[in-house]
Amino acid sequence: MSSDAQCLFCRIVNGEIPAKKVFEDDEVIAFRDINPQAPTHVLVIPRKHIPSIDDMTEADVATIGTTVLRASHIARELGIDADGYRLVVNNGPGAGQTVFHIHFHLLGGRDFSWPPG
Ligand code: AMP
Ligand code: ZN
Repeated sequence: MSSDAQCLFCRIVNGEIPAKKVFEDDEVIAFRDINPQAPTHVLVIPRKHIPSIDDMTEADVATIGTTVLRASHIARELGIDADGYRLVVNNGPGAGQTVFHIHFHLLGGRDFSWPPG
């Protein structure tokens, strides 16, 4: 499994940095965002180090598909599915990406406006 020793989220995957995990399996882990933007704010990430959506290749399609499917499972488990939730990916610094390991922000527990800020 591809990993980057300098990457914060790889270090969480490897257990070098603690996180409040809410889900894990052999491909995906999910943990509470350290700076939550909603009552429920979880980051759902593939274990594999892929820096951004722009770095995806055909070989990553199943991994990212599984990550999205796990996000919907986690939303149900956390009870935010009935009212609706946001699943957000920031791609690149201009969009607000600060950690370069693909992550889906799973946000719920409040209303969300559109368009997003
Ligand atoms: P983004 O800005 O889209 O790259 O999202 C990165 C997210 O990671 C932000 O929402 C941060 O609050 C969150 N974050 C940064 N460090 C940690 C950490 N150690 N544990 C959990 N979440 C973190
Ligand atoms: Zn990484």
